[in-house]
Formats: sequence, C-alpha cells, structure tokens
Amino acid sequence: MRSVIAHGPGDVRVDDAPDPEISGPDGAIVAVEATAICGSDLHFYDGDLPFFPVALGHEAIGRIVEIGPQVQRFRVGDRVLVSSVAGCGRCPGCATLDPIRCHAGAQVFGSGLLPGAQSSLLAVPAADFQLLAVPEGIDDDAALLLTDNLATGWVGASRGRVVPGDTVVVLGLGAVGQCAARAALAHGAARVLAVDPVEGRRERAAAAGAVPLAGETPARVLEETDGVGADVVIDAVANNASLDTAFASVRAGGTVSVLGIHDMEPYPLGATMGVFRSVTMTMNTAPVQQTWPDLVPMLTSGRLDVSGIITQRFDLEQAAEAYAAVAARTADTMKVVLTVGNH
Ligand SMILES: [Zn+2]
Ligand SMILES: [Zn+2]
Repeated sequence: MRSVIAHGPGDVRVDDAPDPEISGPDGAIVAVEATAICGSDLHFYDGDLPFFPVALGHEAIGRIVEIGPQVQRFRVGDRVLVSSVAGCGRCPGCATLDPIRCHAGAQVFGSGLLPGAQSSLLAVPAADFQLLAVPEGIDDDAALLLTDNLATGWVGASRGRVVPGDTVVVLGLGAVGQCAARAALAHGAARVLAVDPVEGRRERAAAAGAVPLAGETPARVLEETDGVGADVVIDAVANNASLDTAFASVRAGGTVSVLGIHDMEPYPLGATMGVFRSVTMTMNTAPVQQTWPDLVPMLTSGRLDVSGIITQRFDLEQAAEAYAAVAARTADTMKVVLTVGNH
C-alpha cells in the first residue's frame, strides 16, 4: 500500500508499506477513499512533536474490504467513516462512547501507536466501536469532518457549557476553530467573536455568522463585553500566548475550553487568579463516537452546515505539496483532503 510518512520536520513523503493485517477478530481493513490533513498533523510536520518516522493521519472515509468474524455491525463493502480516536469498545469507559475514557488506553490513528490514516489501506481495531456507516444525506466532506474536527469543535462548545445568549470567543480559525464557531452558534450563542491573525479566515467565520474580531484580543473582547469578558473562550490554538489570551478574555465564572494541541513544554498556569475568578478550564480530545448521535441529525437537518471548511483536494501522492500548502496557514487553504486513487 501507499502511506504518508513524516521522516522529520517538513519532510513528508509517500512511501510503499506492507499491506496491513487485520488487528484481530474484531477488526476491519478499510480501503481509504479520502483522508484529510488535520492541524494536529502539522505538529509533527512543524517539529513540535518530534517523533519520527511516523505514519500520519487520523481522518479517513472508505470502504471495508476485510472484516473479522466478531464484527457485528458491518460487512465487506460498507462505506464507513473512522473515528480518529480509538478505544477497545468493550470496557466501561468505552460504554460512555468516549474513547478517551477507554480503560485499555485510548489511541489515535497516525500518532505512532495506531497506523496512519493517510494510507491507501487502514487497519481498524474494534471496528464496531470505531466505525460509523456514512449516513444518508452526509457528503464526503461532512463525513471526514465527523471523524475529528467537527466532533472537536462541537465539544469545544458543549464542554465549554455554551448556553443561549452567551458571548463566545473562538481563538484560532483553522478547521477546528471554524467548526467550534459554528457549534457555538448552534448551541445558541448570541455572539461568537472570531479571532485569527489571517483576515480571510476571520471572513470565513463571519460568513458562517460569527463576528470577526481584529486587533489586540483581550482588549477587544473586553470592549465588546463592557469590560466583563466572554462567557466562554474556546482555544483552538493552545500555545502559551493563546492560553494567556483565553484567561485574560474570559469573564469571572466563565469557561476556557481548550481544543488545540499544546507543545510538550508545561504551561505556567496562573492558578491563584483562576481560583479567585472561578474560571472553569476544560481540556478536550473529542469523544468522537459520543458526538455522532448529536451531530448526524444536526447535519442532515441543515441546522449545522460545514460547507466551505474543506478548501482543496490533492491526490494522496501529492501529500508533500498538500502539507506545504496547509502549513502556510493562509486564508484560502483551510483544510485539505487527500484522495486515494483506484476509487
Ligand atoms: Zn484531526
Ligand atoms: Zn475501552
């Protein structure tokens, strides 16, 4: 098979790799049709997570080509989307549908622990838990977003406890931030203040109903909220600067909901002021499977629209070019899909 491998910072190649073997009687092999590049893949590409070589990718849709005898909900030929986060599917933690709570330990595709989804074939363990048949009325772009970014944006709002009437700040308007802005509006936020250094990305959020916020962020948020601060700040960047901005922008009693992946260095948290101001901080990897029962009806009914988030398509063989385009973080290249030939 063909597989996208990061050999070092900025060094992504498409390599030949042995075809994967099914992980066990509860596993499946998916012939990948389309796979997306995620902001978190860039942490390998940029060298923030310096673990090389690594087979990249955790967002995939495709067709089942092989299935273990214990799999009950699927058969060969089914068209499926694959949760980016995997659990064993059998423990009390997985019974909550949050794979992060898996007692055996959650794993993420394309992180070195599970195979990379930016491959022509993907071995999926515990297929009944990890897979969802692509629902009627869900297009490929939305299906790919359900594997990770939309689930992540959604919990940014839901675990941020966004309620109708809230003012929500979203820091970082990549694909996850764009999903978070739309999710906050779907939760009833009165205003979503959308922050990103790239004007075109702010405009994209504005086209979906957010208020683009330029200028110095904590000061502008305080201006917009009569000095009180935002009810919820969703941090879809998560570096020291964005976390500082989040804590400086949230109101007393408000919530900072962190979605981005920080680097490996500790963050100096101002805990005393956090306690004194009763700030809730929630740090989230998406409970992907748990979000599907909420998100699928939102998408099929049109209450949530994810159009315009995926901006380009490349062939899997063009992965190096695609990564360079995504790493430039321009307004025009928001999220890129790699399509796999022979489909
Ligand atoms: Zn992702
Ligand atoms: Zn489990």
